[in-house]
Amino acid sequence: MSTIRYKSVLEARSHKPLYFEDKEKKSQYFANKVFNTNAMRQFLPVEALNAVAEAISTGTKIDRKIAHSTAAAMKQWAISKGATHYTHWFQPLTGTTAEKHDAFFDIMPDGSAIEQFDGGQLVQQEPDASSFPHGGIRNTFEARGYTAWDPTSPAFILGSTLCIPTVFVSYTGEALDNKTPLLRALNILDEAATQVVQYFDKSVKKVNATLGWEQEYFLLDASLAASRPDISQAGRALLGHASAKGQQLDDHYFGSIPARVFQFMRELEYESILLGIPVKTRHNEVAPNQFELAPVFEEVNLAVDHNSLLMDVMEKVAEKHNLKVLFHEKPFAGVNGSGKHNNWSLATDTGTNLLSPGTTPTKNLQFLTFFINTIKAVHDHEELLRASVASAGNDYRLGASEAPPSIISVFIGKQLTQVLDELEKVTAGKLSPQEKTDLKLNVVGKIPEILQDNTDRNRTSPFAFTGNKFEFRAVGSTANCAKPMTVLNTIVANQLIQFKKEVDKLIDKKGLKKDEAIFNTLREYIKASKKIRFEGDGYSEAWQKEATKRKLSNNKTTPDAIKIQIAPETIKLYEKLGVMNATEINARQEIELEEYVKRLQIESRVLGDIARNHVIPTAIRYQNVLIKNVKGLKDIYQEDYKSLASEQMKLIEAISNHMSAINTGITAMINARKVANKLELNARAEDYTHTIKPYFETIRYHCDKLELLVEDKLWPLSKSRELLFFR
Ligand code: ADP
Ligand code: MG
Repeated sequence: MSTIRYKSVLEARSHKPLYFEDKEKKSQYFANKVFNTNAMRQFLPVEALNAVAEAISTGTKIDRKIAHSTAAAMKQWAISKGATHYTHWFQPLTGTTAEKHDAFFDIMPDGSAIEQFDGGQLVQQEPDASSFPHGGIRNTFEARGYTAWDPTSPAFILGSTLCIPTVFVSYTGEALDNKTPLLRALNILDEAATQVVQYFDKSVKKVNATLGWEQEYFLLDASLAASRPDISQAGRALLGHASAKGQQLDDHYFGSIPARVFQFMRELEYESILLGIPVKTRHNEVAPNQFELAPVFEEVNLAVDHNSLLMDVMEKVAEKHNLKVLFHEKPFAGVNGSGKHNNWSLATDTGTNLLSPGTTPTKNLQFLTFFINTIKAVHDHEELLRASVASAGNDYRLGASEAPPSIISVFIGKQLTQVLDELEKVTAGKLSPQEKTDLKLNVVGKIPEILQDNTDRNRTSPFAFTGNKFEFRAVGSTANCAKPMTVLNTIVANQLIQFKKEVDKLIDKKGLKKDEAIFNTLREYIKASKKIRFEGDGYSEAWQKEATKRKLSNNKTTPDAIKIQIAPETIKLYEKLGVMNATEINARQEIELEEYVKRLQIESRVLGDIARNHVIPTAIRYQNVLIKNVKGLKDIYQEDYKSLASEQMKLIEAISNHMSAINTGITAMINARKVANKLELNARAEDYTHTIKPYFETIRYHCDKLELLVEDKLWPLSKSRELLFFR
């Protein structure tokens, strides 16, 4: 019962040459470190295998006996792969992942040593979780939290540790993580969507939401990055004059990948493939040293786990190459920031993509049903969707003419716009046989399988239909996809439930045929959701004005954007669908706002420190050089020195002026912080946004001016051109 063991580069602490052979096919070592169905088949008794499979597809509970035999098999498999430790792997509300490693090794009462790992340890653990954010949940209720096995996401080995994906909840059942509400949302979506699919196809028993994320990131030389306290502490450059050459020549996008980066990517892909993350495309992005990695799409829960895992692996692999990954949404001014497009669709257990037009009128009516319901859901909850991507980092990116604006709108392309326009004209109530035939043949039947203008799609739209899926582009590169995915799947589930009710009512009360009832309901939705559709340039001024006219929300800052999350209608929605209760919602709000304030606070502190400890002393040093020069000229030329030293003297004055502006700015900023820090959370967030953050710009402006004036040799901080153009 042994399987081939591929060594992970992460097993060794120091950097070793690549273990893998390039000539080997990826399919050969794909998921080699994953306890998936294949591995289970080898290591699990049939009875347990079936029970776990059942739990994965229908969510049934796994009993004690099965848990024990699964744990035994998992341990045996993991040890055969070189694992020495295990951990419950979860996603606390910090947005990252957490793990606490325990050795399999244990000492028995008689003193003998064994490799211990049983069902109890697999199913449930009680990590000392007091330092994870809980937004007051564990203060008001119970002090403890526990992690519980999520069998729908397979266990994997990272380095030499067996990682078991788990949810993290309080003893009273409140979710303390990102995964729990997501699983609840996916469940309700499955229920709602399956019922709606039944109108078209009775053989469908389950609907899975699918997610294909595209991770953008920057890579820097780790040593250069280490010379920048802002980059190591805040994850982004808080100052630094833009380099003369940035992205204006458009020579980075899809350009050739630098050799050093290429090595990193190969190793990263190798690790990802071992972990079953189906990475597929890699390419340069728009900005210098910006890249993108995208996998083949997967079921949402697994895709979310894989994205979190990938971010973790990326940092580890980068370290081995003396590189530093920046996930921040806006690491450098003057060049594009990073996002994480979330491609989303719905797939049936029979293999149908519900957002893909088909070849028959019935399939197309099914497509239109899910397509229009999604648009209606986004229309009704656009503000909540905007809130789901709000963060201190993303505030710097959204609306900066490189990423979608803070206004949510939906792009569907010319062909589908025409189809919806036709459908809108359908007569209300019963349809004549002629109308029905017409509709089926000339409207619904005419939707081509490949939509022309969706390949040449509108890149400025935050929520674009791209042929067989929607692409949510406002998500930030640091985000845990669970948040936007929880919102999207919840609002679509809610919409589908409503749709089913309305259609059934038309059938039962008005005596309409099924198709008539569906057409009627869709027609109303098309009318009701028109204002969310926008095909034009989302980056333009004109759209900002038009969106205001349409009364679409346009929340530019995180504190404004997330207010909707605790609005009574939001709480009602989540409670009705069992996704989150009021306690969980309020706790999350507090955590998000706290994190937002803390991030700005760190940026403010770091900027103040660098400006005072690096920039000003360096400027003084250079000013002294100039003063010495002026004095020397005076010694030689006496009264004639003035004309000879005039430029130097202007520089001396300019340096003093910039230094003084920096100092005044920092003092005022610190004073503002002192005031803000005493306020209650909401007011504090407002203050950080509107009073403290604006100082960043002024302080930076003067620092960057000094960078241009001061002799290059003296400047202690790596400059943008060095950071962005390393080889
Ligand atoms: P782009 O030009 O935006 O890179 P691609 O066509 O390469 O577009 O696809 C982008 C992403 O869409 C990929 O990560 C892919 O996995 C994902 N994707 C494709 N089909 C689906 C689907 N049915 N559901 C979810 N994601 C999908
Ligand atoms: Mg994309």
